[in-house]
Amino acid sequence: MTTIRANCPACGDIQLTATELTVRVCADDDRGSYWFSCPECERPVTKDASPRIIELLVSSGVRKQVWRMPAEVREPHYSGEAITPDDLLDFHLLLERENWIDELEQTLRGSIDR
Ligand SMILES: [Zn+2]
Repeated sequence: MTTIRANCPACGDIQLTATELTVRVCADDDRGSYWFSCPECERPVTKDASPRIIELLVSSGVRKQVWRMPAEVREPHYSGEAITPDDLLDFHLLLERENWIDELEQTLRGSIDR
């Protein structure tokens, strides 16, 4: 079985078998990484990996997981002023009122119409 040399931040150079590593590739931007639990200290270790390293690891028998970024990443984000402690306090006071949901809806409708 192929032995793969890797580095644990706590233990230094260690040796792993292909089944002890997992390669992860993002389908959206092709960025790759690999991770393993260190056999010495059991800490999870992750490292970025170039396509060449990914290919080398996969050809050595390391399992490959392909993942996608969550859909929220592609949603439009509205810019505006950051909320302040005063905003949070106003919101807290609003939530104590019985018709808070209607008031909130009116406030939001007003800010969208602007
Ligand atoms: Zn370690």
